[in-house]
This record gives sequence, structure tokens and C-alpha cells, in this order.
Amino acid sequence: MFIEIQHINKIYTDKDNNANTVLEDINLEIPKGQFVSILGPSGCGKSTLLSMIAGLTSASSGGIVVDGKSVQKPGKDRGMVFQEAALFPWMTVTENVVFPLRKEMNKKQAIERARHFLQMVQLSNYASHYPHELSGGMQQRVSIARSLAMDPAVLLMDEPFGALDEQTRSRLHGQLEKIWIDTQKTIVFVTHSIQESIKLSDRIVVMGTRPGTVIADIEVDIPRPRDEHKQQVAALEERIMGLLKGEIDKVINEELAYEARS
Ligand code: ADP
Repeated sequence: MFIEIQHINKIYTDKDNNANTVLEDINLEIPKGQFVSILGPSGCGKSTLLSMIAGLTSASSGGIVVDGKSVQKPGKDRGMVFQEAALFPWMTVTENVVFPLRKEMNKKQAIERARHFLQMVQLSNYASHYPHELSGGMQQRVSIARSLAMDPAVLLMDEPFGALDEQTRSRLHGQLEKIWIDTQKTIVFVTHSIQESIKLSDRIVVMGTRPGTVIADIEVDIPRPRDEHKQQVAALEERIMGLLKGEIDKVINEELAYEARS
């Protein structure tokens, strides 16, 4: 299997030595080219899991294998896109995309490559602009182009559209779907939006919280584009809402109990 997540556990210990089990025995197999969403309530460990695939966070036990290699640290085979675009403000759009490529190829090739991926995210007309001249959605498209330009086998996306308004988000969903079809990348997409996960993914891994575990693994067999299949989308949305309701109640009850104690 292309990505293998094997018996992952993650325990954080606070300064008073209290153990907080964030992830408990996570096992997933992700085939090459799949678009998989990791969906769950805030705090269930989605970002922690994604960060482990990226090689940015280590597991307390268990392991992750990508394309036959055990993940120990970040690598070019795994590109990451965060909620904030984190572009260099003093560089133009093109320079931002070229920057990580400078060790991989000569300048002319890097610029050529940047041009190709900026075209893919429909930003060719903004190549010479600076980040502050772009909207949040455009900045995020630059960050996607920057990741894609490195040609990673896996694109790891941590709520990449979480900070955007509804309309922009919806437009970017369409663009990302097209990019995924064109590039055939494996995408692991973290979100807490049920609609977003249904719109985009082949498969939805639903996580529960405290500790973070996989509570359902759903294949989404609704034809694309999914907007044209409203009934099937609504039915799946309801099913997932039912799965998550108990989890969200759990969080709310714990928070109420905490407030009552303090
Ligand atoms: P999600 O992405 O689902 O919102 P996270 O993976 O960000 O969840 O966090 C899961 C849990 O792990 C949270 O309770 C969070 O407070 C805790 N956590 C995350 N990073 C750390 C850290 N570096 N140290 C201690 N606890 C952490």
C-alpha cells in the first residue's frame, strides 16, 4: 500500500506529568492517487496525524510508511499546505514558488516550472504581484502551486480553506478537484467540514475524540461533480452527522463539566 499508518499512538505529557492520549491505535492504508479526507471535531488529533505523515511530529508508538520508506522526517515526497499560506512577503508570487525549487534545478527551469503551476491555479496574471496584493484565496492558491511545483507524491493539506469565505472556498474546491484529477496526486486532506469532505474525497476517515480514534471509514461513491447529486450528498451528510453527534456531545459535556468545576 502506498501510505501505511500502523498502530499509531500519540501521548502528550503535560508539566504535571498528566498523560493526554491524543491518538489511539490508528491504522490506515491509503492507495496511490486516492483523495482521502480526515474528518472529525476540533481537537480529535487530525492535525497531529497529518503532521506525523509529514514527518514533523513523531509518534509515541507505531509507524508510518510512505512508498515503502519509513517516515522519520520531512521529505520532498510529501508536500504540506497549511491553513495560512505563509508566503514570503518580500517576494513576488513567482519568486515564492521558485524559492523551494532553487536547490533542485537551475533558475530558468525553476521559473518555467513556477509558470506552469501558477497557470494550473489560475494565477498567471498575478505572477509579479506581492502577497499583500492578493486575497486570502489567491494566497492559498500560491501556496498550493508552491507545493505542487516540488512534485511531491503526496499532498498533505491541513484545513487549507478553513480561513476563507464560503464562495471562495467553493471555487477552490472545484480547482483542487481538477488539479487532483490532472496530477493524480495522493491527497490527505484534514477538515472539520462534513460538506467539504463529501465534495472532495474518494474516502472519508471519520475520527472520534478523546482519545482520537477512527470511528468510520467511508467510501464516497457519489459521481463527480458532486454538486449535481444533491440527494446522495444530503444522505451521506446526514449519516456522518449522526456518527459525529455523539463525539461532539462528548466534547460539550466535558467542557460543561470543566466549567462547573472551575
Ligand atoms: P485537530 O487537528 O483535530 O483539531 P490536533 O491534532 O491539533 O487536533 O490536537 C489534538 C490534541 O492534541 C488537542 O487536545 C491538542 O491540545 C493536543 N496537542 C496538540 N499538539 C500538542 C503539543 N505540542 N503538546 C501538547 N498537546 C498537544
